[in-house]
Amino acid sequence: MVRRSSAGLGLFAAREFRKGETIIEYVGTRVPSSDEEVGTNRYLFRVNASWDIDGSPRWNTARYVNHSCRPNAEAVNRRGRIFIVARRRIREHEEITYDYGREYVERYIRECRCRACAGKKQNPVG
Ligand SMILES: [Zn+2]
Repeated sequence: MVRRSSAGLGLFAAREFRKGETIIEYVGTRVPSSDEEVGTNRYLFRVNASWDIDGSPRWNTARYVNHSCRPNAEAVNRRGRIFIVARRRIREHEEITYDYGREYVERYIRECRCRACAGKKQNPVG
């Protein structure tokens, strides 16, 4: 379920998920990996040294999963396909999040406003 969240739109659990359960696949167009593109398209997901998934199309519902430094899910690479998998039990209506990684956060988010960071005083980056 896509709903409004603190960081714009977010993806919320329509039902409960068990730990380890696959929630959704990160789908998109497979493109040759390019470091320049990573600078301009925040929905590129690095699969391996030669391929990225461009997850920017709206039919990629997983693009609405927001970043969190203390996430309840993680992105798992299974033979070149990316799945969002529950790291712990996720209750119905809970927002689904995963850790985008330090590089992404520094490039696109800078000041993280996830729940783990909110209220914590941020040190300016750089
Ligand atoms: Zn954070």
